[in-house]
Amino acid sequence: MFPADWAGNFLDYGIAALVAGIYAGNPDALSLRYAFPKVWNLEQRYGSLIRGSIGLARDRKRSGQTKFSPIILSHRDGLSSLVHGLAGHLQNPVLTGVQMTEIARIDGHWSVAYQQTQGLPMRVTAPRIVVTVPVHIWPKLPFDAELSRQLSQVTCPPYVPVTTVFTGFKREQVAHALNGFGVLIPPREHCPVLGVSFNSTLFPNRAPNGCVGLTSFVGGALSPDAAVDDSSQLWQTLQPVLRNLLGVQGAPVFLDHCHWPKAIPQYDLNHAGFLRQVAALEAQFPGLIFLGNFKGGPGLNDCIFSAIGLP
Ligand SMILES: Cc1cc2nc3c(=O)[nH]c(=O)nc-3n(C[C@H](O)[C@H](O)[C@H](O)COP(=O)(O)OP(=O)(O)OC[C@H]3O[C@@H](n4cnc5c(N)ncnc54)[C@H](O)[C@@H]3O)c2cc1C
Repeated sequence: MFPADWAGNFLDYGIAALVAGIYAGNPDALSLRYAFPKVWNLEQRYGSLIRGSIGLARDRKRSGQTKFSPIILSHRDGLSSLVHGLAGHLQNPVLTGVQMTEIARIDGHWSVAYQQTQGLPMRVTAPRIVVTVPVHIWPKLPFDAELSRQLSQVTCPPYVPVTTVFTGFKREQVAHALNGFGVLIPPREHCPVLGVSFNSTLFPNRAPNGCVGLTSFVGGALSPDAAVDDSSQLWQTLQPVLRNLLGVQGAPVFLDHCHWPKAIPQYDLNHAGFLRQVAALEAQFPGLIFLGNFKGGPGLNDCIFSAIGLP
């Protein structure tokens, strides 16, 4: 028999921790349908989650389909390797550090005027334009007055702040075996830290010999004020959490942080309306495409899959 509150504990310590880990969000405010479409589909198709998990496994077995096992990966020199790798395969060089001055639709094509530092004004024309900046930036793009007006009326999903803090310790400073992916802290614990990943366990070359590296995620929807841009304040927040959870003693031998004031868009109960607005704009302005973590899922893999689905 299950303990009386097993379902509540599963929700609080399993599902809610996962939601906080992926969205840095408030589980009560997110839309299951859009934030976790696979779970929603399972429920729709089989009537309940448990029946769905069993049914899916049975259907897979019948069709001879093997289970998709996701892997955790990173790049030796950081995620910028992915961007530089993609840029290296493009026909034309990627331009950065330029100021766009106009984006206009001319004779069925999109035309972007831009200014390089100390350079002449330039213009590039293409049948499609893909907007990948965060939603709150859309009204600032130099589209014509009518499109700018419509973009300013799009209901921007709320973005929550997160600060990632990388700490390095001598191995003997950490009592925990660090034998796993890391820890997720459920919102029920009212902790300003969302979770800690064991970077030096997950990936090689993340810490020198005899040392370990941990990445902590601070802030999120339920503790936005904790996501500050100040190392010593962050260490004050982290120290008791790392000590209690992992038996960390003393100060880190290395600490660096990255502050994301608008880290992750929340797929809340207004998300269906937001997606409808985006689809309407794309239909009204042929060749205009919006892509990014605001639709199709916030994970890097989700963003890549959305992009591959380009018409
Ligand atoms: C702290 C944190 C940890 C995460 N961890 C993971 C993880 O472990 N695994 C995972 O799969 N996903 C993770 N994610 C999610 C994932 O990394 C992001 O959702 C994804 O990278 C977003 O991609 P994007 O192209 O939509 O946005 P971004 O990568 O943010 O790209 C938007 C671009 O727009 C540019 N931009 C913004 N304003 C302007 C402007 N005015 N003019 C020109 N350019 C502008 C920005 O510089 C940026 O390059 C994490 C996210 C965060 C914040």
